[in-house]
Amino acid sequence: MKFADVILPLALPRNYTYAVPPDMENAIQPGSRVAVPLGNKKYAGIVKSVHDQAPGAYKTKAIHDLLDKEPVVYPTQLAFWEWMAQYYMCNEGDVLNAALPAHLKLSSETVLLFNDAFGDDFTMLDEYEYLVAEALHIRQELRIGEVQQILDRPDVYSIIKKLIEKKVCLVYEELKEVYKEKTEKFILLNPAYETDEAIAPLFDELARAPKQLELLLAYLHLIKTQGEVAQSELLKKSGASAAQLKGLVDKEILQVDQRIVGRVRMGKVDVQIKFDLSPAQETALAAIRECFTEKQVTLLHGVTSSGKTEIYVKLIEEYLGSGKQVLYLLPEIALTAQIIRRLQKHFGTQIGIYHSRFSNNERVEIWNKVKSGEIRILLGARSSLLLPFRDLGLIILDEEHDGSFKQQDPAPRYHARDAAIYYAGLFKAKILLGSATPSLESYYNAKQGKYALVELQERYGGIAMPAIEIADLKKEMAMKEMVHNFTSVLRGHITQSLEAGKQVILFQNRRGYAPFLLCTTCGWIPNCKQCDVSLTYHKHQDNMHCHYCGTRYPYVYTCAACGSQTLVPKNFGTEKIEEDLQELFPQARIARMDMDSIRSKDGHNRMIQSLEQGEIDILVGTQMVVKGLDFQNVNLVGVISADSLLSYPDFRVNERAFQLMEQVSGRSGRRDGQGKVIIQASNTRHHILQFVTEHNYKAMYEAEITEREQFGYPPFSRIIKLTIRHKKQKTVDEAALVLGNWLRPHLGAQLVGPAAPLVSRVRGFYLQEMLIKLPRDSRRIAQVKNMLKEFFGQLTIEKQFRSVVITPDVD
Ligand code: ADP
Ligand code: ZN
Ligand code: ZN
Repeated sequence: MKFADVILPLALPRNYTYAVPPDMENAIQPGSRVAVPLGNKKYAGIVKSVHDQAPGAYKTKAIHDLLDKEPVVYPTQLAFWEWMAQYYMCNEGDVLNAALPAHLKLSSETVLLFNDAFGDDFTMLDEYEYLVAEALHIRQELRIGEVQQILDRPDVYSIIKKLIEKKVCLVYEELKEVYKEKTEKFILLNPAYETDEAIAPLFDELARAPKQLELLLAYLHLIKTQGEVAQSELLKKSGASAAQLKGLVDKEILQVDQRIVGRVRMGKVDVQIKFDLSPAQETALAAIRECFTEKQVTLLHGVTSSGKTEIYVKLIEEYLGSGKQVLYLLPEIALTAQIIRRLQKHFGTQIGIYHSRFSNNERVEIWNKVKSGEIRILLGARSSLLLPFRDLGLIILDEEHDGSFKQQDPAPRYHARDAAIYYAGLFKAKILLGSATPSLESYYNAKQGKYALVELQERYGGIAMPAIEIADLKKEMAMKEMVHNFTSVLRGHITQSLEAGKQVILFQNRRGYAPFLLCTTCGWIPNCKQCDVSLTYHKHQDNMHCHYCGTRYPYVYTCAACGSQTLVPKNFGTEKIEEDLQELFPQARIARMDMDSIRSKDGHNRMIQSLEQGEIDILVGTQMVVKGLDFQNVNLVGVISADSLLSYPDFRVNERAFQLMEQVSGRSGRRDGQGKVIIQASNTRHHILQFVTEHNYKAMYEAEITEREQFGYPPFSRIIKLTIRHKKQKTVDEAALVLGNWLRPHLGAQLVGPAAPLVSRVRGFYLQEMLIKLPRDSRRIAQVKNMLKEFFGQLTIEKQFRSVVITPDVD
């Protein structure tokens, strides 16, 4: 008897063992997708291992079905999932859920079955129940959709419920295959007519059907010029009708051939654009090659616009030559048409793209093409790390410092950089991390010799780094020089740029019009009902948003506390900057790029294109304007408020502020001549601003790493953050206290908290947090993780804590 351990797409702490039916024994392998029962539902799970150990604790159920001919993942992915679940303290089911496209997970569908025990006495049923029962009696099973057709009433579910109660029917969940291959009809010529001699008589024969003759001639013309002809295309181009086509098919002159076609459009051209690296790029590439002979990970620290992308292209070419696959990871919003076009130019049909905007059917196709190896290079966001690569040779992770590589919710809460390093290891593949402002962790690892380091200090084409000037907000306020939020310095430079026909990018980290409203009579501030935060005023939409839970509220004119009509917007976001700019520069064409103005991926791309084509003079935006964009004509970048970047409570605040300012500066003056950057700040003496002015990454690194060491923060420790949440404040406070008391004897000073976080209620849940700081000792870390899991289990066994949710967040 064979058994299989199956990973189910659920947050279960363990995998379940199922019996393998004898007829499937040869076919089921690790990675096979199978339909299995759990409770009264059916799921599509993935076989992790096949063995002959019956589980002691429970009687096994049998696997119902093997869903595909081949396994959907390789053993490498199974090993990766196991590591992820262990390292990031989640379940393999969570990883499976994140990895598998929805259309491979299957959804289950409710099916009603006639209950034979019921007999055929329908007298106790009302009119509607009777209709369904009768249909069930005849057809034995019905789907919900069919019941809806029969009844055509809004209360279908309550009628079904009554039928179940009266034992007329039984329900069960059936798996529904949702992925559908796309097919298209192609038109073929009957092989009997392939020679000129054979086809010539047809023209005479069809003389009495001139429309059919015309259609046949159109077909012959198309097939000659393009090799294959789709039915839809033929009808469109010939102007013929389906009936006329059917006429030719009935006469056995033409044939219809239905074929599976792909939805995913791969690049078309297969020619590679030739270009040469500059000597500095050439040196860096040679150094990377050299580093890879000794180390698995290389960090490429290349200043903005140094031409890192071109180096990646050359490196990718080399790996493709050796027959391996390449994964190129970028932050989601850096995956613009700009970079896609640049790479498609080089890699044509071999490159596939993967990000959150693909449809479910497209995802399945990409999944299969990566698995088969048809996609040789995959350019994608964080989640493409979970695709089933067959033989990966190289991972490039560009903008490696970017915070969006870390997944927040839901589990697995992984960091794509660290996970990519582990994944690459499974393939014995190399990994190249690239950034102009590396994360402190990576730069530290490079300096320690764990990673190799390659530095590229000059911009491509010898363009100078932008000149940075700090504009003093305090001084200008005192001198009454400010107009709205603009210093005279920034206004002056914007005027100059516009007069020179150049473009300007302004960066403001907050979206909306104002982060909060304030009653000037009594101090009341409108807050979210679900969360412990103020509501952001969005003037364009004339309402207020909670940026934590997304709830929208109508704008209030009257203070809820004192009844006065004295509410004023406080502080400012991108909408306000846009409005003020329009007033200050009425002639300028101004656009705003943030999550509110950009709803779709395409909107983002369109705006970038407008900027490229010179249709926009000033672009105001949040982080979205920072990432990896390459514009020729931008010669001024303004940071509206550096203070807001430098003052929030997080140990990474200085590093992040430096990265943001350096990256946004990098958008200025990339092609001809030196660009200019104006940073507005009240605290002009902040040491981070000094480093930004000098483009001095290394000085920033030295200052920050000293502090990290002093306070025991990463990279000198590993951090696990525990968030505990519950609807009742009392319960969450008590649970945190109990857990803290259990942990303290084992952790001592390594445990910080529990304490309520700054925003202590989100989506109606009260929160408590704890921070565990551990030395970089993997055995100790593994031990603590196991201990935590045990304590979580113990805590939620207790009755009053049963519905407490604990989420660990590693690193
Ligand atoms: P980075 O990613 O380091 O900020 P990019 O790769 O975007 O820099 O390069 C900056 C600009 O220089 C781009 O417009 C790019 O096309 C151009 N460039 C870089 N290297 C070359 C090269 N070897 N030949 C031609 N153009 C190059
Ligand atoms: Zn008031
Ligand atoms: Zn909220």
